[in-house]
Amino acid sequence: MVIIVIMIKKIEIKTGYNLDEYRLLTTLKSSVDELEKKAANCANLKKKTIWMVNSTATGGGVAEMLPRMISILRQLGFQVEWLVISPDNKDFFQLTKKIHNNLHGSGNPGFSDSDRNLMDQIGREMAGAFEKSVKPDDILVIHDPQPLPAGYFFLQKHSTVLAVWRCHIGIDKQNEASVSAWQFLKPYLQGFQQTIFSAQEYAPDFLKSLTQVIYPAIDPLTHKNRPLTIHKTTGILANAGLLPGNLRIITPQFEHKARVLKPDGNFSVMDDSENGNLLYQPLLTQISRWDRLKGFQALMKAFVELKSKSRTAQDTRHQKRLELVKLVLAGPDPAFIADDPEGLQVLEELKSEYLKLPKEVQKDLYLVLLPMNSAKENALIVNCLQRISTIVIQNSIREGFGLTATEAMWKSVPVLVSGAFGLTKQVRDQVEGRIHNNAEDYIGLSKVLDEMLFDARGREIYAYNGLSRVVDQFLVFKQLIHWLDVLGADGFVRNKN
Ligand code: UDP
Repeated sequence: MVIIVIMIKKIEIKTGYNLDEYRLLTTLKSSVDELEKKAANCANLKKKTIWMVNSTATGGGVAEMLPRMISILRQLGFQVEWLVISPDNKDFFQLTKKIHNNLHGSGNPGFSDSDRNLMDQIGREMAGAFEKSVKPDDILVIHDPQPLPAGYFFLQKHSTVLAVWRCHIGIDKQNEASVSAWQFLKPYLQGFQQTIFSAQEYAPDFLKSLTQVIYPAIDPLTHKNRPLTIHKTTGILANAGLLPGNLRIITPQFEHKARVLKPDGNFSVMDDSENGNLLYQPLLTQISRWDRLKGFQALMKAFVELKSKSRTAQDTRHQKRLELVKLVLAGPDPAFIADDPEGLQVLEELKSEYLKLPKEVQKDLYLVLLPMNSAKENALIVNCLQRISTIVIQNSIREGFGLTATEAMWKSVPVLVSGAFGLTKQVRDQVEGRIHNNAEDYIGLSKVLDEMLFDARGREIYAYNGLSRVVDQFLVFKQLIHWLDVLGADGFVRNKN
């Protein structure tokens, strides 16, 4: 049997803003008050330690949400810790990526006996790693499939521990691939009292009676979302290498800068001569992990198609707009990501598509690798890129929710999203933005992009409506009220007492 090293790490959380600071913002006050009232009624829950467990501390929506949820819960008097657990094993990584894709209804169905053995072996070893931390009265909240078997094997030995599984992925209409992944995961769900999904439709039939729905949410004041003046935005982009470095600005250059794909096939930091026009030309942006299901490939093709429309555009202003428009496709720099073979492959495919494009399209298409050494700097760069965009796009083939759309709406930036179910939970067509249903139909996508770029008044309306939608439904306070409904529910706490 192969020896597998399990990496388990308790992640330190910075407190960040406190509740009184949020309350100073009038749009947030009533939600903060409501959350505090709710927390005051959860005395039993405050006696327990809640362990949030996932597989990574950086990258993706879960890692984005946990620190703020934990910080705010702590301020409300709850004991919450964050454990990141993952084995140093490529086969496990590939297996869980396959499960991830299958739960999204994509990829080939079917699991072998050796998949089962691997999942069991690693699950048992990861469960062992919990022993030092999790106590009999605690609550385990396991996020997504990777740490799920660890939760299962731990609960087999420690039946007094209360457990919730939070699944952030799924599709609304189950298919062969998703059913096969659910069959594979089913045994590991024994022992969990609750499951939480981002939509009722995502839960398989055997979990429906245990399922509650909680929407993901953003914290409005993190580095990813906080307001930035134009002056700050310019400074951050220059520090990150996305505007000329010779501007006279207050803050020092970031240690690691964004790298951009050049026509010679290399990713490198832009020099000042290549740099500068992101701020004053129409800009389309998609920022995501390099995952095939994010629909980058079709978006790139749609952009090429969009550019060709400048030749036939009737309106001269619009013709100019199409000539000048730029596309930024940004995601994490793989130099900072330990193990993501599929991500590298997706990036490689995008690169080879880019290299085939005519020079005049290449100059307006930026494939950007964002440094990941500093979570703060990464978040600030994403914040700026979203803010300076004319339209933020999320062309996902599948999407459990899609925080990138939420983030853009919060910033009053109009969004264009695919019909992936999670995105349609947030965006209503022609209210907060536009929906182009089929992420892979790049011709259709280019038409909607063209219409949206032409429709300046529509974009203003979407921008305004997007912000209100996020304030009403997708901020962290509402999300935590729902979490306390689940964890603090008398039934849940009492069940095993
Ligand atoms: N993100 C980031 N840097 C990147 C790429 C993505 O900070 O280089 C963030 C993005 O802003 C969002 C999260 O990662 O907060 C992605 O969440 P989403 O729900 O859109 O997709 P997921 O990655 O969970 O599938």
